[in-house]
Amino acid sequence: MTSRLENLRAVLQEKRLDAIFISTPENRRYMSGFSGSAGYLLITPREAILATDFRYVEQAERQAPDFRVHRISSGGQWFADLIRETAVRRVGFESEDVSVATHRRLRQALKEHPPSSSVTLVGSVGIVEELRSRKDQDEMALLQRAIDISDEAFDTVTANIKAGETEIAVGRRLEAAMRELGADGPSFDTIVGSGPNGALPHYLAGDRPIREGEPIVIDMGAKYKGYCSDLTRTIILGTPDETFRRVYDVVLGAQLTAMATVQIGMTGSQTDGLARKVIEEAGYGDNFGHGLGHGVGLAVHEYPRVGPMGSDILESGMMFTIEPGIYISGWGGVRIEDVVILEDSGARTLSKARKLERIGG
Ligand code: ZN
Ligand code: ZN
Repeated sequence: MTSRLENLRAVLQEKRLDAIFISTPENRRYMSGFSGSAGYLLITPREAILATDFRYVEQAERQAPDFRVHRISSGGQWFADLIRETAVRRVGFESEDVSVATHRRLRQALKEHPPSSSVTLVGSVGIVEELRSRKDQDEMALLQRAIDISDEAFDTVTANIKAGETEIAVGRRLEAAMRELGADGPSFDTIVGSGPNGALPHYLAGDRPIREGEPIVIDMGAKYKGYCSDLTRTIILGTPDETFRRVYDVVLGAQLTAMATVQIGMTGSQTDGLARKVIEEAGYGDNFGHGLGHGVGLAVHEYPRVGPMGSDILESGMMFTIEPGIYISGWGGVRIEDVVILEDSGARTLSKARKLERIGG
């Protein structure tokens, strides 16, 4: 945690902030180690303070030894007290996380209990998220464990899916298997989309019985000590139709092309283009309606953004998904997703779940 604090303080200096007030749960956990569900961090060049309520004081002291734990009272005076104590003036806050009501409450507290000099709250976006996009050794190990858990759960459960079993029953078995293997729980609600349901981007799993000859899109992830894996496979029971053969090979080709050619220094949008080109050339450009991938870590979607609008530059040590898909309304979908880590020699694939090979057609 010490080097994370050092890195953050360097950014604060660059941005001419005296402090940052952190409220996003994943950022709070990343910076402090504290995994409780409520609390704020105030980090200055010299101090690191974790403010939380009485339920969490003991846990916070145990999990965040680099931080001074401050017990929050009701109302907002605690915030004004901390600002006065630390004598900071330009204080960044996470404007994508803080609600309008909370912002109003913080400003009201400063008005009612004014510090000696005037304080400016500066809306900031992505400061800790940017640091989180490059994984350290500890994080790599935790993420690999999360990935291994979902891989193994997928391989075990999908080895014996039978026609007639409902999507939701398969989803429940996958989630139970991940817990059995040591996951905190699923990192998001498991998607099992069979037949036409596979074409609906926000579909989860319903009571539709799985049938032979239809694509089944399974998108799942495990959370392990806070870290999230993300895995998609498209499988089929029985004999695939012509469409499946054609579409599956295009998606797999797009994925393998992107994984083989992505390099340090590319932007997210250039990387997205590696796979998108393959899909467009096969005539399915309009059927790939989402970005190619996203970073994974304490959140299942985080920096870098690997999509048509992604301006993030990919760096060594970044871990992200590569998940092209083709969706055909009324028929279904095919999506294949692996997590990779970017190294000097290119992307190394960390997911090992069973995957259909090229099937031709
Ligand atoms: Zn996924
Ligand atoms: Zn994903």
